Amino acid sequence: MEPFKLIRVHDNQAAIRTALMAGSRFIAGGTNLIDLMKLHIETPKQVVDINKLPFSGIEELPDGGLRIGALVKNSDLAYHPVVIKKYPVLSEALLSGASPQLRNMASVGGNLMQRTRCPYFYNTDFACNKRNPGSGCAALTGYNRMNAVLGTSDHCIATHPSDMCVALAALDATIHVQGTKGSRLIPFGEFHRLPGQTPHVEHSLLPGELITHVDIPGMSYSYRSHYLKVRDRASYEFALTSAAVLLDIRGGRIQKADIALGGVGTKPWRAVPAEKVLNGASADLQTYRAAAEAALSQAKSYKDNAYKIELAKRTLVRALTTAAAIS
Ligand SMILES: Cc1cc2nc3c(=O)[nH]c(=O)nc-3n(C[C@H](O)[C@H](O)[C@H](O)COP(=O)(O)OP(=O)(O)OC[C@H]3O[C@@H](n4cnc5c(N)ncnc54)[C@H](O)[C@@H]3O)c2cc1C
Ligand code: SF4
Repeated sequence: MEPFKLIRVHDNQAAIRTALMAGSRFIAGGTNLIDLMKLHIETPKQVVDINKLPFSGIEELPDGGLRIGALVKNSDLAYHPVVIKKYPVLSEALLSGASPQLRNMASVGGNLMQRTRCPYFYNTDFACNKRNPGSGCAALTGYNRMNAVLGTSDHCIATHPSDMCVALAALDATIHVQGTKGSRLIPFGEFHRLPGQTPHVEHSLLPGELITHVDIPGMSYSYRSHYLKVRDRASYEFALTSAAVLLDIRGGRIQKADIALGGVGTKPWRAVPAEKVLNGASADLQTYRAAAEAALSQAKSYKDNAYKIELAKRTLVRALTTAAAIS
């Protein structure tokens, strides 16, 4: 690890000012950043500890929604009674991630900002456009079993690794940030960036901008939901594929469906084509299969990851079937 200066801040403006200096990084739980620093993948000159900032609360909003502070720990969010009751899909997604010890440290802001698990990104002996822009992408011709099939480019095929973000994508969350020019809101779908020609640009935060909290809207309909994650082992493992589904079913017909996929996209993947098939259709296996076909219709596989396309379809069908069966 390179030497760095640790700066503890006690107010937002000090955090933003300090983080504006070149080579600065915020640190929350440290479960991703410290690993990257040990491997010399991130080499900040100064690390801004934001843990004393007032963003550790969870509050219900007058419109029925929920405001979640950026410093709320993944465990506290997963076990919060309102989340369990009103947003079980978020609780399920959080509890499927990492391990209890990691979830006790990991924050909501850090989870949103966590970096890919592409093995070539972590190994500095290999070319990686995300780590070293313009150097190439070793995964394109290398071992790419874990890599993405949706949203890829000729410059990067890395998946976004978060489970929490898949649920937040389906729930239409909004991210609140603060910077030198004040506060602004970023719709969830606009927060993470597709790799395109600039895979090192992963999100839409401006220099120094701090995530303060995340809002989930109140649900205008009563829904059944499920988060299903498929992985190589039952715990402490990233998704091969996952699906977050919310369904409003009345009289055997789907009135509304909100669907997102994980493990397959270069960002948390809102499956709009699947929603179009589901909305207004009969709630049955034939519809779910058609939705899964639509969700993966634009998928492109590489040498070792063609299996993900079929697995993602089956994951979505199973998640829809499970959610629909909830009484
Ligand atoms: C072994 C292992 C297994 C894991 N398995 C899973 C899994 O199965 N599913 C899953 O979803 N995740 C998994 N994770 C990832 C884990 O969820 C993340 O490491 C964690 O969420 C990061 O949160 P943190 O608070 O520790 O972030 P930090 O490491 O403190 O920060 C990460 C990044 O976020 C930035 N940041 C933090 N807070 C803010 C803020 N408020 N505003 C702006 N920037 C901010 C930091 O500058 C840094 O760039 C795993 C991690 C490990 C180590
Ligand atoms: S897929 Fe992306 S992260 Fe992986 S080696 Fe290629 S450029 Fe790097």
